[in-house]
Amino acid sequence: MSTSDPIQMVDLKTQYERMQDEVDQAVLDVIRSGAFINGPAVRDFQAGLETFLRCAHVIPCANGTDALQIALMALELKPGDEVIVPAFTYVASAEVIALLGLSPVMVDVDPFTFNLTAELIEPAITKRTRAIIPVHLFGQSCEMEPIRKLADRHDLRIVEDNAQAIGAEYTFSDGTVGRTGTLGDIGCTSFYPSKNLGAYGDGGAINTDNDELATQLRKVANHGQNRRYYHDVVGVNSRLDSVQAAILNCKLPHLEAYNERRRQAAAYYDSRLGDIDGLLTPAKLPSSTHVYHQYTLRITDGRRDGLQNHLQQAGIPSMVYYPVPLYDQDAFRGTAANKIDYLPVTDTLCKEVISLPMHSELQEDALSRICASVRAYFMQ
Ligand SMILES: *Cc1c(COP(=O)(O)O)cnc(C)c1O
Repeated sequence: MSTSDPIQMVDLKTQYERMQDEVDQAVLDVIRSGAFINGPAVRDFQAGLETFLRCAHVIPCANGTDALQIALMALELKPGDEVIVPAFTYVASAEVIALLGLSPVMVDVDPFTFNLTAELIEPAITKRTRAIIPVHLFGQSCEMEPIRKLADRHDLRIVEDNAQAIGAEYTFSDGTVGRTGTLGDIGCTSFYPSKNLGAYGDGGAINTDNDELATQLRKVANHGQNRRYYHDVVGVNSRLDSVQAAILNCKLPHLEAYNERRRQAAAYYDSRLGDIDGLLTPAKLPSSTHVYHQYTLRITDGRRDGLQNHLQQAGIPSMVYYPVPLYDQDAFRGTAANKIDYLPVTDTLCKEVISLPMHSELQEDALSRICASVRAYFMQ
């Protein structure tokens, strides 16, 4: 990349070009085989992801939002049952709760990791609480050991939203290591193109170690049937496309390397930006590896929007994930299902966060230009 090349938030094209022949061939193979629905490519991907996650069952599906919906449907909750979810996340995590007639109970997050914690969850638990959706936001695991203990004490199910953290690992106090998504009862992930493991269209997956839940999840995702034309429950139709599975089969072996390159880019940002007053680089938990789906700063001196303008003028893209707390979205504000209308940390983060370009193809040259531009803004 030369200094005149535009810097991008994500660069899917360069990543594709590195493996173009393999991907083109895999796509052609599917088309020529005619196995468009649940063909060998889908079965191979399911097995590959089971191995990668070190998990007994993967159920591929159409997208990450479906994965969350199917997970909640498989738990057979009743209307009005409460599900705890962070208020600082992508809408999908809470949307599926409301869609199923359940009540999203939004809780605040930690100001440094951006994730919910057991301490923040506990006061929100009531007699109607049935499940918790920890979101491993921006690529780092929630502190899951205390969350699991809390869930066990109150007999709550844990559905992990692992859409942003595939490949991250969490270490329990006894030394056990597990991938995010395998730390609760059900894990949900997304293969939206810009995710760490991205397809060239939509895709998602659900995973569990529990055999009974796996049977239920497969059934829900397949029109409520395990035996063709015998429908036990009202389900949905949610499948991973064979063409997308073939592409993901090419990319899965590289996921660890992609995540490592993201970590290298993050280390570069940390080293160049860590000393600036009014700016906080992302906090790292000792118990989790970070796969940096996003590299997200907090601009604590009220100049976030000014920084974003400054970067834009220098041709450097940035994004605000997320500008509005979920409880302030029209879809949820004042609804019977949602009783929360203010949480201080979420409110602050929505005003302070900004994500810098982050992907597996970021070169030092681009990183250096981005960091120089951020520094220049704070020096003026
Ligand atoms: C991307 C994402 C989803 C939804 O995934 P889709 O495949 O776009 O449906 C859910 N939760 C989080 C946190 C996400 O980032």
